[in-house]
Amino acid sequence: MSQFEIEKPLKQFSTFGIGGPARFFTEAQEVEALQDLMRYCHVQKLPFFVLGKGSNVLFDDRGFDGLVILNKITFCQFEWPIVHVGAGYSFSLLGSQTARKGWAGLEFASGIPGSVGGAVYMNAGASGSETADVLMEATFVNETGELEVLSRDQIGFSYRTSVFQKRKGVIASAKFLLHPSEEARKKQLGIIDYRTRTQPYSDKSAGCVFRNPGGEFSAGALIQQCGLKGKRIGGAEVSPMHANFIVNKEGATAGDVLALAEFVKNEVKEKTGVDLEMEIRCVPRNHV
Ligand SMILES: Cc1cc2nc3c(=O)[nH]c(=O)nc-3n(C[C@H](O)[C@H](O)[C@H](O)COP(=O)(O)OP(=O)(O)OC[C@H]3O[C@@H](n4cnc5c(N)ncnc54)[C@H](O)[C@@H]3O)c2cc1C
Repeated sequence: MSQFEIEKPLKQFSTFGIGGPARFFTEAQEVEALQDLMRYCHVQKLPFFVLGKGSNVLFDDRGFDGLVILNKITFCQFEWPIVHVGAGYSFSLLGSQTARKGWAGLEFASGIPGSVGGAVYMNAGASGSETADVLMEATFVNETGELEVLSRDQIGFSYRTSVFQKRKGVIASAKFLLHPSEEARKKQLGIIDYRTRTQPYSDKSAGCVFRNPGGEFSAGALIQQCGLKGKRIGGAEVSPMHANFIVNKEGATAGDVLALAEFVKNEVKEKTGVDLEMEIRCVPRNHV
């Protein structure tokens, strides 16, 4: 069984650069290690949190009172037209590698700074495409340590949602079904160019804070209409570059980010009547 580190600061594992210590922390590099960890947590009734690349999480300033499991399963097998990849593998790298080979379908992943597991869990998407469009199946270690292989239909994807958000366990790997296209590399380069021009990559953030509400306007457009770009609370700021990003300027705390998100939500509700919902996963100290 993997060794646990104690009181490990979580801010180094979050792209926000925010978060207190994990009571216990470990890394898993093999599926069997994940199975052992799930069995252990189940028997010991130990709360756990699965971490990919930490690009969509806001950890509590007081940390996490349980075990944080960093997914480091990083194999990648190309078996045309399928790519089978470990959940800890970089989703962005997968997007550029497949496009370079002329394999189309994952170009949108390029520039999304998450892991494959995080992308499946969140049904990450961009530029009109999402993970659900190309996922064939995912291998999941359930809370009692058993392996389950779920097809795309069994995963019940919808906008930034998958069945995994209602289940306890860990996504271990995923298979994607791609198709040939001579345009794949050009499309992927276009996507990365657009992203770097429109999103604050040099700042610490966790991507879009709010889900797009549907209807005519995106969450970012609504926040911008309300004149909130540049609004600050403590060290947290609504990005002047993209209004749906909150960035960590000068040592923001989770409290600052949550207070600013609440302020934005209230202003948008008051001025436009739209209820915004958080997309970022907030991880309270006593998360179950
Ligand atoms: C600059 C920037 C740009 C971004 N652009 C986009 C974008 O265009 N589109 C988009 O959809 N998102 C975007 N994001 C958000 C983020 O990158 C995605 O949501 C990504 O899929 C999260 O992956 P992760 O590995 O970082 O997940 P984490 O942040 O580590 O975790 C997110 C959630 O997934 C769960 N999770 C992670 N791995 C597993 C696993 N193996 N098994 C079970 N649960 C797991 C975690 O428990 C947590 O609840 C952006 C973020 C940043 C910082």
